[in-house]
Amino acid sequence: MQSCGSPKRVADGRWIATDDTYNSFINGKLELFVYQSQWTIFKGYTIIAYSNSFGLHPLSIKSNEWTFIGVCSHEFRFFMTPNTCETAYTMDELGFDYFMRRSSSTIIWWIDPNTDEVQHSGAKYKNGKVGKRYCNICNRAYSANNFKSQHFRNLHTFTGTDIENTSDLYCVLLQYDV
Ligand SMILES: [Zn+2]
Repeated sequence: MQSCGSPKRVADGRWIATDDTYNSFINGKLELFVYQSQWTIFKGYTIIAYSNSFGLHPLSIKSNEWTFIGVCSHEFRFFMTPNTCETAYTMDELGFDYFMRRSSSTIIWWIDPNTDEVQHSGAKYKNGKVGKRYCNICNRAYSANNFKSQHFRNLHTFTGTDIENTSDLYCVLLQYDV
């Protein structure tokens, strides 16, 4: 996982998932993990940035959801380098809400956790296969073509009057997000 756009490039570079704690990453002397319910970047004991995004993974956090201490503007974001079907990413590496929260113009290859099959995320046919994207509300893959405009809109638009549970809340947050 890579990052770019931080103020004076203080938090740019390559982040390695530490294998002892889930969702914890290091980049040189920087550490990234959830601290007091917020994604937080530490340099030693000092917090340099935080985000209260509802994103499940750093890749699902948008640039404008990051606050760098003492800095007004930045374009910080995480991204994955383009891959191939031989180097497909797992959903653990991408975050299960990856396709829900990101605009997916770049095609990536990923492994469907339900079938262990390698999929690509493109909207059109590639290598004879239609692209798919993972929905973390349905917990399964759907056609990448019109994933947001159809699957998302038809099935996950909140139409109730009261938010009654966390999945209602999640759908509302996603609606204001896409
Ligand atoms: Zn769904």
